[in-house]
Amino acid sequence: MKTEPVVPARIDFDAAGLPHAPDFGDVYHAQVGAFEQARHVFLAGNGLPGRWAGQRRFVVAETGFGLGNNFLATWAAWRDDPARCAQLVFVSVEHHPPTRADLARALHGSPQPELAAELVAAWPPATPGLHTIDFDGGRVRLLLGYGDAAALLPELRLVADAIYLDGFAPGRNAAMWSAPVFQALARLSAPGTTAATWSVARAVRDGLAAVGFELERRAGIGGKREISVARYAPRYLPPPPPRDAAAQPLARDAVVIGAGLAGAAVAQALAAEGLAVTVFERQAAPGAETSGNPAGIFHGTVNADDGPHARLLRAGALLATRTYAPLFDAGLVPGSTRGLLRLDAGPVEAMQALATRAGLPADWVQVLDTAAASALAGLALPSPAWFYPGAGWCSPASLAAHWIATPGVAFVGGTEVARLERAGGRWRLLNAAGGTLAETAIVVLANASDAARLAAAWMPEACAWPLQRVRGQVSAWTGPRAPLALPVAGGGYALPGPDGGVVFGASSQAGDEDPARREADHAENLAKLKRLTGLEPPPDARAWPGRVGWRLAAEDKMPIVGALPAAVPAHRAEQPRRWPRHEGLFACTALGSRGITLAPLAGRLVAAMATGAPWPLEQDLVDAVDPARFAARALRRRG
Ligand SMILES: Cc1cc2nc3c(=O)[nH]c(=O)nc-3n(C[C@H](O)[C@H](O)[C@H](O)COP(=O)(O)OP(=O)(O)OC[C@H]3O[C@@H](n4cnc5c(N)ncnc54)[C@H](O)[C@@H]3O)c2cc1C
Repeated sequence: MKTEPVVPARIDFDAAGLPHAPDFGDVYHAQVGAFEQARHVFLAGNGLPGRWAGQRRFVVAETGFGLGNNFLATWAAWRDDPARCAQLVFVSVEHHPPTRADLARALHGSPQPELAAELVAAWPPATPGLHTIDFDGGRVRLLLGYGDAAALLPELRLVADAIYLDGFAPGRNAAMWSAPVFQALARLSAPGTTAATWSVARAVRDGLAAVGFELERRAGIGGKREISVARYAPRYLPPPPPRDAAAQPLARDAVVIGAGLAGAAVAQALAAEGLAVTVFERQAAPGAETSGNPAGIFHGTVNADDGPHARLLRAGALLATRTYAPLFDAGLVPGSTRGLLRLDAGPVEAMQALATRAGLPADWVQVLDTAAASALAGLALPSPAWFYPGAGWCSPASLAAHWIATPGVAFVGGTEVARLERAGGRWRLLNAAGGTLAETAIVVLANASDAARLAAAWMPEACAWPLQRVRGQVSAWTGPRAPLALPVAGGGYALPGPDGGVVFGASSQAGDEDPARREADHAENLAKLKRLTGLEPPPDARAWPGRVGWRLAAEDKMPIVGALPAAVPAHRAEQPRRWPRHEGLFACTALGSRGITLAPLAGRLVAAMATGAPWPLEQDLVDAVDPARFAARALRRRG
């Protein structure tokens, strides 16, 4: 999917403070009117709140988030309903989101001031793609997609229970009510999915009927005499996408192999979906192998084409910030989300031109000249920098241990999984002596390079993953606090150490299996530190011996996240999403040098795929991390 810069909505406020959209010649609804409309048209029109009673999860899909009144009214109705579902997932697309300031102004006087304030506080940067925002500890999850509905809706993977068709009037915003949008909504529906809209326009009713909805008119509200409600009852139901075959929505338990960042993130995300999760780890404690460094950095990247790599890292970094900030603030995990500087050779004018062309918002990334970057870092830097205000550093081992301690996750250390068997529709995990360790519906291979060994027994031969282990040694000194206020990166990194001093590195040697710490690597790290920050260890610094680990990277530098392919498809095998899958068998590995950035997103993606929850990532990006992609690409190349 080619992304476009997000252009925020132009909102005029009239003398009474009411918001208008001059570009569409239409009004946003007044606060009270908007809530009444939401309750009458969208909630009651979809049989809510009654329909979510007693369910584990209820999914609402909406076209046109606007000022969020439908979301707030739905959230309020859910909160006030003692029979509510365990989790409300609200997925909405918006082409022109308001700025945070406009949203705050427009929601001033909201009938739900506390919920409105939470929404404003969590408002994401105006960057294209899906943003995941959790409220109420994740029991209310908002997936907010910034982009054109016709382009974004086909990239979503979810099954909606209810659909809210909102947005400006069809006469003023025809694209939102077009055949491609209706077709995409039908693909997000299952028999019984309902839809509601205040519009009774012929084109809207015909468009919905053409894709399999049965329509009904109901009494309207406010200025509307009638509204439309609909139920999906298609004459022909296309088979579900083959990739969905892996999902186990009725499963109660899951096993994760490996308790590094990848496995711990997956375990936490599966437990959040209500599963009882067991994690097998060959070491005695979580985060004892590659994820055991004292600290590392997380951040996005800027790329003129906004290709899959940049989009994935952005989605990962934004979710990482949301996930980590409360943990750091509460002192549960050492780390910071107070920003990171990524040095760039410049010139600063070229960086600025790129930022403007790409429409990069300042709450995502800013261009700083050398002086401004140096002032932020607290020392003289050699060049301009990209400043990511929400990025930062964290202690990966503490993070892994924190996730493993999630209620619902059982940790079994000192236990190596030797192989898997399929028995009676479940997975059996065995140790080297052939003893059964566990039987379960869902298995996630999150055991770094050993995942490739376990996966190879179950994937077609053509699917072998092109992986490389890249040795790396990180250095640090502790003791006196260095004058380094923020992490600085760019061909290496330096960050303020959790125990004072500085953590810096790291060396990089592909195919080198030497576990011994090397003086030459430490010298290389010192040179990087000097180049990035001008810093050298002070005489009273306490040297730390360093640590060696292996980054596992796929050939295309993207992680491997998703369900394992079971066979080569007869048709369209060049598309990863067409490959048949094993039931309940997933991988989450090859996080490369970006495990801290990618783990929360990768964990949630696996959990969503395994349980049938809405995916937090666009499907073309899911293709880009799919375990079947290498074989699919090879077939494409062969034509
Ligand atoms: C020097 C260096 C610096 C780095 N700096 C950064 C940084 O600044 N920022 C960043 O984001 N990333 C950084 N990384 C990368 C980051 O550390 C990795 O992306 C991340 O740790 C990978 O996590 P993982 O869970 O996939 O792998 P691991 O942490 O290796 O976890 C895999 C786990 O599986 C277990 N296991 C394996 N096989 C089995 C089995 N058969 N049964 C049971 N258990 C098994 C292992 O014991 C291990 O604990 C760095 C890496 C290195 C080497």
